[in-house]
Amino acid sequence: MKSLAPQFIVKDISYITDKVLKELSVSDILLDIDNTIVERDKTEVPQKTKEWILSLKKKGYRIFLVSNSLSKRANKIARDLYCDGLIAPAGKPFLRRIKKLLRENRIEKEKAVVIGDQVFTDLLMSKRLGIRCILVLPLSKSDLPHTKLLRLIEGRLIKNWINSSSTIFLGEGK
Ligand SMILES: [Mg+2]
Repeated sequence: MKSLAPQFIVKDISYITDKVLKELSVSDILLDIDNTIVERDKTEVPQKTKEWILSLKKKGYRIFLVSNSLSKRANKIARDLYCDGLIAPAGKPFLRRIKKLLRENRIEKEKAVVIGDQVFTDLLMSKRLGIRCILVLPLSKSDLPHTKLLRLIEGRLIKNWINSSSTIFLGEGK
């Protein structure tokens, strides 16, 4: 599964700084919601997350939420965070809706990055699109039942990638 390996894995979003994004020449962020910026069963966005998003927006990054979650909850989160756009449900890893978002907002693939916690939705979508991906370790262990088995597989892949030289891991401990 080497071809799926992300360029970066981070312990949490706070490691994704302006400096990291500048190194990648990123201007647009395609951001997952569940277990990336908010725990899956919560609707309130943590203050730390709000500050992270605001600071990036102030630096001029555009932030689009791309979530497989239901639209009502995702809409509320997108409003709270003053995001530039939202697709929910996004149907990741399928590309129809994300391609529409890229087109409508003139997002260039070379200047975009996908940030998310799941290998078979976020990372796979990014690979199929040809957009780079920063994989985030999931915020909570609570998941839908059908994602549990995938999580086991993901856990192994992620561990291997963290220990490999092709992926950069940001965060203390391994
Ligand atoms: Mg997620």
